[in-house]
Amino acid sequence: MTAETARILPGLEGAPEQVDLVVVGLGVTGAGVALDAASRGLTVLAVDAHDVAFGTSRWSSKLVHGGLRYLASLQFGIAHESAVERGILMERTAPHLTRPLPWLLPLSSNVSFTQATLAAAGFQTGDLLRLAARTGRDTLPRPRRVSRTEALGLAPALRSAGLRGGLIYWDGQLEDDARLVTCLARTAAAHGAQVRTRVRVLEATGTTVQLRDELTGDTRTVTARAVVNAAGVWAGDLVDEIRLRPSRGTHVVLRAETIPGLRSALTVPVPGSTSRYVFALPQPDGTIFVGLTDEPVDGEIPDVPQPTEGEIGFLLDVLAAALDRPVKRSDVVGAFAGLRPLLEADGSTSDLSRKHAVLTSRSGVVTVVGGKLTTYRQMAEDAVDATGLTTRPCRTQDLPLLGAASRDVLAQVEEPARLVRRFGTEARYVIDEAVRATRLPEEELVAPGPAGVTLAELVFGVTHEGAVDADDLLDRRTRVGLVPEDREAALPLAERALALAGARL
Ligand SMILES: Cc1cc2nc3c(=O)[nH]c(=O)nc-3n(C[C@H](O)[C@H](O)[C@H](O)COP(=O)(O)OP(=O)(O)OC[C@H]3O[C@@H](n4cnc5c(N)ncnc54)[C@H](O)[C@@H]3O)c2cc1C
Repeated sequence: MTAETARILPGLEGAPEQVDLVVVGLGVTGAGVALDAASRGLTVLAVDAHDVAFGTSRWSSKLVHGGLRYLASLQFGIAHESAVERGILMERTAPHLTRPLPWLLPLSSNVSFTQATLAAAGFQTGDLLRLAARTGRDTLPRPRRVSRTEALGLAPALRSAGLRGGLIYWDGQLEDDARLVTCLARTAAAHGAQVRTRVRVLEATGTTVQLRDELTGDTRTVTARAVVNAAGVWAGDLVDEIRLRPSRGTHVVLRAETIPGLRSALTVPVPGSTSRYVFALPQPDGTIFVGLTDEPVDGEIPDVPQPTEGEIGFLLDVLAAALDRPVKRSDVVGAFAGLRPLLEADGSTSDLSRKHAVLTSRSGVVTVVGGKLTTYRQMAEDAVDATGLTTRPCRTQDLPLLGAASRDVLAQVEEPARLVRRFGTEARYVIDEAVRATRLPEEELVAPGPAGVTLAELVFGVTHEGAVDADDLLDRRTRVGLVPEDREAALPLAERALALAGARL
């Protein structure tokens, strides 16, 4: 495996016409399948109609969570699987892209004694899940009750009247979901997979796919020993037997100053419910995401789902109850929505999304759907096993993604913090490759631009990560696009990166 070969490429030029496995879709699931199969020695062609992380995988809450919520519905199997996968990501495969995040449930006057007792019991059980998954205390500390003063230290904007203290537990946070997918896809390429964006699968059987290069319009048939459909909410477009009933989840984006000094995630119970919460999640780039809604969606599946004003209002109203100064609509600087790929079984919607399903169609296509970002690795393992292509055991539990290293090693890396957070030990490589491609001085390439984004990472997005336009760079290689105002400010930098890198490709 070498970082040199680890390139995502746009279009079909030079792609193989015969492989062991074709993977449809480069969300977290498809990228995970490509890595699993390539690391077991199979030849792989993995394609996406648009771009890496174009679908649901970039609209998540960006958490690697240990399955606490599934305990409430007594789904111990899924909860355990989530906790195990969280530990693998945080301690072995992607410490560079994950971090421990404290969660604060403020015990304010609107949190009843019953809600507080249930939450405390849930947090303790969540800690048992961590223990059962063998995730260290260094990674995720013990849950505990905190005083009123400590709660206000973590979240100074909390409504102080009636505040009795708080409950704290720890879970995992991702630097960026789209970055995890891009890193997975490049790691798959480093293991020999051909990873292609802008390639749509028009038709699929268990042994053939008809592909269209969306850049040139060329079509081509590729033969394979197996085909895995990891097309998320679009999985049913390729396989008749798969029926999905997606549900929409919306987040709003705030500037950090809107909830000043927030150092932990904030959990606010939805009034009248003992199991629904609204979360405020601080991000390292100076924004806060507030989520999450759950609205059934019927009809045509849009490429980019849109949040509704009703959903935005709901999130702000619930959050307002916990704060001294309510968040206003005008404080919202961005909003995004994603569709959960829920599987419909026998005409009724059943929440298989969290469980994930691997289904082989009459024509032999293996579809892997549902689950969640945290459990992508297990989903990928199950899908590759279901193809029956190899008896070699899965290796991904112990396969670090590109740039991964222990937290101690990462702390020693001297490159700019933003690049270390997003590329781990590859930060130096990203800068060197950007210097090589542009001949610009390093200082210029690493200088923080709008929302902290650097020219170096944008250039690397073009040269190594398959970005072909400003949307790829601003909406998926970086997440500047989550705040339209920042996106506009960063557009000239993205265009410059495209001109500089594109000219030398
Ligand atoms: C609002 C929300 C918040 C969430 N938060 C979390 C969280 O914090 N943590 C967590 O663990 N999970 C979370 N999840 C769940 C998680 O995001 C999803 O389960 C996961 O991202 C699904 O990934 P996927 O690869 O299966 O699908 P997708 O990411 O949708 O990928 C499918 C890909 O297939 C491509 N495609 C479609 N049709 C074709 C075709 N014909 N040819 C080629 N390519 C095609 C698409 O372009 C797309 O890129 C959340 C989900 C939602 C909706």
